[in-house]
Amino acid sequence: IDHGAPLDRSVADAVAAGMKAWATDMGATHYTHWFAPLTEGTAEKHDSFFEHDGKGGMLEEFTGKLLVQQEPDASSFPNGGIRNTFEARGYSAWDPSSPAFIVDDTLCIPTVFIAYTGESLDYKAPLLKALRALDRAAVDVCHYFNPDVRKVMAYLGWEQEYFLVDEGLYAARPDLLLTGRTLMGHESAKNQQLEDHYFGAIKPRILNFMSEVEKELWRMGIPAKTRHNEVAPAQFEIAPVFEELNVAVDHNMVTMETLQKIADRNDLVCLLHEKPFEGVNGSGKHNNWSISVGEKNLLNPGNNPHENAIFLTVLCAIIKAVDEHADLLRSSTANAGNDHRLGANEAPPAIISIFLGDQLTDIIEQLEKGEAKSSKHGSQIKVGVDTLPALPADVTDRNRTSPFAFTGNKFEFRAAGSSQSCANPNIMLNTIVAEAFDEISTYLESLPKEEFQKGLQKKLSEIIKAHKRIIFNGDGYKEEWKEEAKRRGLPNLRTTPEALKPLLDEKNIAMFEKYGVLNRVEMVSRYEVFIEEFTRKVLIEAGLSINISRTMIIPAISAYLSKLSSAANSPWKNAATDEIGKCAADSLSEVLNATKSLEAEFEKKADIEKIKEKMAHLRKCVDKAEGIVEDSLWPLPKYRELLFIY
Ligand code: ADP
Ligand code: MG
Repeated sequence: IDHGAPLDRSVADAVAAGMKAWATDMGATHYTHWFAPLTEGTAEKHDSFFEHDGKGGMLEEFTGKLLVQQEPDASSFPNGGIRNTFEARGYSAWDPSSPAFIVDDTLCIPTVFIAYTGESLDYKAPLLKALRALDRAAVDVCHYFNPDVRKVMAYLGWEQEYFLVDEGLYAARPDLLLTGRTLMGHESAKNQQLEDHYFGAIKPRILNFMSEVEKELWRMGIPAKTRHNEVAPAQFEIAPVFEELNVAVDHNMVTMETLQKIADRNDLVCLLHEKPFEGVNGSGKHNNWSISVGEKNLLNPGNNPHENAIFLTVLCAIIKAVDEHADLLRSSTANAGNDHRLGANEAPPAIISIFLGDQLTDIIEQLEKGEAKSSKHGSQIKVGVDTLPALPADVTDRNRTSPFAFTGNKFEFRAAGSSQSCANPNIMLNTIVAEAFDEISTYLESLPKEEFQKGLQKKLSEIIKAHKRIIFNGDGYKEEWKEEAKRRGLPNLRTTPEALKPLLDEKNIAMFEKYGVLNRVEMVSRYEVFIEEFTRKVLIEAGLSINISRTMIIPAISAYLSKLSSAANSPWKNAATDEIGKCAADSLSEVLNATKSLEAEFEKKADIEKIKEKMAHLRKCVDKAEGIVEDSLWPLPKYRELLFIY
């Protein structure tokens, strides 16, 4: 594992025997190759350890062969046209770098999932390749500073946000049940205005849930650490201690599944959707990323000029990578749910920029000028000569509006959605940084030894000049930033279809092929899988909106109206009964018209953005009706119930 060497078959047999002994000791009767296809969640097919012995008895068996590779029927997993139906075979292959774990009675073995023809059908295979590319490129750069460096590891600490709702209320909301979000629902008079939920005392039912989740995670070796109430009512967060990146990604997948399983045991439902409720914050997944040589975090400025030179080189590589490939980072966060969140004044905007904080920005500016012959500023950082001032870790963390923020000794990518695997953002991030390292190495290689210091200084200064437009320390929620970003030429990819386009970009395909992470066929197939998933989700939402409106909302308004009409025909009918009746009747026609208009667009299934617009309009009309119709006649649990009963 440490040296990435190929595995001998006899070793595999021994490991399999050890795993089986351990797992059966823990009560496991089954094993599964556990993998992450291009859907939400993971896949598993359980087999028992039992074989017959040919003499009427049973024996337990688990060989190296079964551990290393299996052949699940892959025809029903998304592949974006890679697999022909006549060649439905896929292979799952053991990833020894991610520890096996036990869920209930099943030994789960993390695996990659590839097509018969060799293409990746999952998130893990390209992630491992991206990590290998990063390792190689980073080691090359590090060699200019320290020839003993053998391995550079990437680390990830994720923060997972989620909502909890009562199971009974959930079951009465067809939209939550089928789409994970409320397609309708009038804002609660009280939601998050008082900001009394964030970090507030955790209610007993929730605390029970959280501690059950944590115990379950610890048993599986997942170092759950932090738990707290989030900004929105009924919203919470869990975060573990950071781990080796590939392991952390798997652990996040297991955590999402565990949250849902334990919620169910507590008569709660855990919503991982990016935007379950309108008018309150949605849920994201923060991706805290760093790279290290052994114990030495390369994103930690050291206390001597030599360590600082490495730090500044790494920092400049990241600035260059993020500026050159902001579109790819954005694409890795694109899905139907996140479209409701990014740029909605609660989450980072769809524009990717880097927050460095004042102090680091100042250092970068000095570094930029360091090369200039004359500078008005007295202070100039000279790489490998000057010592950087100690950077205060907490001060840099206060800008919550930035999608990509330096937070002391790591970068925090905050645009990913709560339901997404961490794999995709990290496939992008590690590959683009590998490319930047690679380009810096190529330049350094061309330098004569005695000019190394000066040459590096010049290179870093050039990088800053070329890419400093990506640095933005201001408020990313402000309208002005959109204008400013446009002037700087930064992409603003607002919707999923726009954000997925970069996957088809020739320059991006060339980079992924060059670093052996994804080939052209895989890139195109991923684009197709993601765009199809997006389209299907919107169509499901639209179909359901129509159904709820026709069978629940319109009948409710009609029932209210007929109740009112008896008052309007009574002897005490007056201006008030007329006014109330008219208001309900108007609301009914609004809802009906909006429904018809959505139906017309839905039938065509041609323009997804139009369908989304019409859905939003119908929702507006329904939410208005909710504020008019008698409470006891309203067929859906309301926001005040969903968000405050738990
Ligand atoms: P926040 O202030 O954003 O709520 P924290 O500072 O508590 O978050 O840390 C969030 C996550 O960052 C945790 O999972 C933590 O383990 C992780 N983290 C801390 N240091 C590093 C590092 N060097 N590399 C990667 N992740 C890290
Ligand atoms: Mg965070």
